[in-house]
Amino acid sequence: MNENRKRKILMVNLPFSGHTTPTLGLARIFVELGHHVSYINAPDWEERIEKTGAAFIPYDDYPETLSPSQKEIRSWHAAWQTVQRVGADFDCLIYEMLFLPGKSVADRLNIPAFRLFSTFALNERVLRDFGRTGGWYMTAIFRYPRLCGLFSKWIQKKFGLRYGNIAEEMERNAPDLNFTYTIREFQIYPEEFPADHYKFVGPAVDGRMEEDFDFSKMRNPIVYISLGTLLNTSAAFFRKCIEAFRNEPVSVILSIGKTIRKEQLGEIPDNIFIYSHVPQLKILQRASLFITHGGMNSVNEALYYGTPMLVIPVGNDQPRVARQIEDLHLGKYLRRKGLTPSVLREQARTVLQDPSWQERLLLFQKRSREAGGNAAIAEMILAELHRREEEA
Ligand code: UDP
Repeated sequence: MNENRKRKILMVNLPFSGHTTPTLGLARIFVELGHHVSYINAPDWEERIEKTGAAFIPYDDYPETLSPSQKEIRSWHAAWQTVQRVGADFDCLIYEMLFLPGKSVADRLNIPAFRLFSTFALNERVLRDFGRTGGWYMTAIFRYPRLCGLFSKWIQKKFGLRYGNIAEEMERNAPDLNFTYTIREFQIYPEEFPADHYKFVGPAVDGRMEEDFDFSKMRNPIVYISLGTLLNTSAAFFRKCIEAFRNEPVSVILSIGKTIRKEQLGEIPDNIFIYSHVPQLKILQRASLFITHGGMNSVNEALYYGTPMLVIPVGNDQPRVARQIEDLHLGKYLRRKGLTPSVLREQARTVLQDPSWQERLLLFQKRSREAGGNAAIAEMILAELHRREEEA
């Protein structure tokens, strides 16, 4: 059988930036290698998906205006329905872990499944940690076994999952090949994820298409601040940042997201530059300090560029990520509760004035760069499809 055979690849995701953005480079790489990629997602992802060269397939039966919590449930169902309708025509299904029914629906369609993790690789133990530490967000369900049991049974029935427990479904009904956008050295409980089945490829920086950015009015050092794209709705936090750095000899790039408006932040001094979205990879390459919420993509991107971090988590996996950063001496974990502008300023000064942070980051930077990213995922998936064909 010809190893270079053109494949028909189906990708599916839920419409959240932290979950979809890293996978766009993968779609693009397959397209550049001459394969046909179709990508199922919500309508607001159409333009960005089509830019990769993949064909966009909008969810079946998906309302246009939804709150973030409605989005989660509705998009699961809509994505699941769409995969069932179109999936049998494809050589494989690639899904991000948040689309929990990925493996079970691929099995029903009788096509191979491959799973991507935009957070740590997950099993029951990791999810229990998230439940304990993640605050009142989605992961809180893992703190309450009875509630989690009821919810699990409901979705098991609705989506035909193999197990009546979310964590068990994730851990035991796993595809043969799973890819995580971090490096093994950063994974928590790495020994629980066998190397044959769990591949750690580092952040998805390849194939990312970023807008231009004008640094000309800025002076070094640059401090970059972002709470990511989802749990970024605290104007009070951004006001504290402005207060902390207004008289400091630094330039601050503040990415405030699409919910908070600049007018809510009061008077903005000349050394602070505010945007709703920035080309983060370009900024991390120039920044001397990254003040982050500890989203896994952001953190892995910072490791890739060797940017020291102050991590101020909001919820979900972020507090666990922050702890891992502190445990591995890659940055500092600051609690949001009681955080004042002067604490923030002092902590930032400590990191900015201490070059040893960068030395510690060197190993992680080196490993992240060697890990292969989306190109490595594409290569392993194509090799696995070929191997399966040879065996058949
Ligand atoms: N991001 C970006 N520009 C911004 C803010 C975020 O490009 O102004 C990107 C960032 O590089 C990362 C993703 O959005 O890849 C955020 O993902 P993360 O897991 O860090 O946080 P989430 O948004 O899921 O909370």
